[in-house]
Amino acid sequence: MGRADMTFADLTTLRVGGGIGHFLDVTDTDSLLETLATIDDVSTETLFILGRGSNIIASDTGWPGTVVRLDGGAINPHVESDRTVYTVDAGVDWDQFVQRTIADRTVGIELLSGIPGRVGAAPIQNIAAYGQQVADVITAVETFDRTHRSVEWVTKAECAFGFRTSRFKHDWHDRIVTRVRFELPHASQQPPTPSTYVDVERHFATHGGDPTDLAARRAAVLAARGAKSMLDLADDPLTHSVGSFFVNPVVPVALAHELGELFQVRHLSVQYLEAEADRRDGMVRVPGALVLRYAGFHPGDRWGNVQLSDRHLLAIVARPGATATDVWRVGHHVKTRVADTVGSDVLQFEPRFIGIFDDPRLDRFESEYAFTRGDGPEPSWLTGYRTKPT
Ligand SMILES: Cc1cc2nc3c(=O)[nH]c(=O)nc-3n(C[C@H](O)[C@H](O)[C@H](O)COP(=O)(O)OP(=O)(O)OC[C@H]3O[C@@H](n4cnc5c(N)ncnc54)[C@H](O)[C@@H]3O)c2cc1C
Repeated sequence: MGRADMTFADLTTLRVGGGIGHFLDVTDTDSLLETLATIDDVSTETLFILGRGSNIIASDTGWPGTVVRLDGGAINPHVESDRTVYTVDAGVDWDQFVQRTIADRTVGIELLSGIPGRVGAAPIQNIAAYGQQVADVITAVETFDRTHRSVEWVTKAECAFGFRTSRFKHDWHDRIVTRVRFELPHASQQPPTPSTYVDVERHFATHGGDPTDLAARRAAVLAARGAKSMLDLADDPLTHSVGSFFVNPVVPVALAHELGELFQVRHLSVQYLEAEADRRDGMVRVPGALVLRYAGFHPGDRWGNVQLSDRHLLAIVARPGATATDVWRVGHHVKTRVADTVGSDVLQFEPRFIGIFDDPRLDRFESEYAFTRGDGPEPSWLTGYRTKPT
């Protein structure tokens, strides 16, 4: 359905961003392909594909072209003796798909419960949480090639998945994900092992329950995410974010050790299993929150109408009255201060920026924004492993 009055503020979890030239909603993949066939120019310059809008920051000047939002579709399961193969339309809500797999008693994405977004966006940045990543269960992705207007299935290997990345983030900008195929083993054949992530372990230790039961694992994750405002909830103002604003950085091992000592973090590699995978050439991936704390930022730090979440240091929250420019400038301020502190520009933005953003004018940043020091608590996984005060 076409709408002329939509803005990105209406369509994104951050709730900022300007107007849209032409807005279309499509409710399944067949209607997406039919719609694309009617649009003359489907290039990335004029046509923007939107899912839930939970990982983009659109500029205040908006997007003069067409936005097609994927909102709905089918989940087609094919049950085999030991696994189920799901072919899922790109517009299906991610968490609805997770719930479906739990009801089917198939294993592999139950710890990805509560991540906002649509299925079609999941492969783009290889969504991950609590030790599971979507790349582990994707076998193929159906794509629409904007240049050749052709549809083809590409294999998992061709997608080149990595930590919060894939080929879609680099040389496949002209591909629209139309369907995703997943292969999940049946719990009866391959029961899940208990998660070693602090929040999940702590939930089971406090509330009891079976850490290998799929529904209990989902409940534990939803509770942990809720406590960090990492759910898509309209009535919690701290959820007005894009989730993590920065990708967990890769830093020299010596700095990682220093951070671990300073903040008394044990089990860094358990909290972030990826750390081990990324250990190479003396570099290691660490929680981004550590480098922010190291650079002097606190949960709840606020510049005008934009703040670091009280409950999740890596999340930048837009409060009422905030503009996309404000968010952009705060993001650059944090990134630059961290770079100055650690001596290298280690933080990369996780969300995609859409539209035109001006120079963040960091020389005038501190004089132009009223700053309030946050008094939010330390991240729980820091205090949880803290053995002495810092
Ligand atoms: C509160 C909160 C918590 C979060 N927690 C996590 C987390 O734990 N782990 C995690 O990995 N992420 C997390 N995120 C980030 C976000 O949920 C994911 O990146 C999600 O996959 C984005 O889906 P979306 O449909 O909202 O994509 P959008 O924001 O709509 O789009 C993101 C990008 O993907 C492109 N895109 C979307 N759909 C398609 C398609 N079908 N084909 C081609 N390109 C497409 C868009 O053009 C855009 O460039 C969180 C976000 C929020 C707000």
